[in-house]
Amino acid sequence: MKRRVIAVLVCVCFVVALLFSAVSVSENIHHACSGDACQICLYISHIAHTLKQLRVVAFTAVSIILCGIAALFVIAFRGPQQAHHGLISLKVQLNR
Ligand SMILES: [Zn+2]
Repeated sequence: MKRRVIAVLVCVCFVVALLFSAVSVSENIHHACSGDACQICLYISHIAHTLKQLRVVAFTAVSIILCGIAALFVIAFRGPQQAHHGLISLKVQLNR
């Protein structure tokens, strides 16, 4: 139970950080740029890079979940198992 609470809190922090990052970038995108050493441009670049990395992580997590669901469907809805028909299961007597 404690792990679930921690996992939910981490997810909430992740989403809030994503939202605030996007809002921060959108508010600072049109700023009075001071040139090459502009701290706001550096800040925006850093946040954009972090958001790209998080997008890759989110895409990977969703892909893994979808593959797991597909595997469950394949296991649940596969056709009837073919029984192995060997000599013993067919009760064949070889000594006749
Ligand atoms: Zn700038």
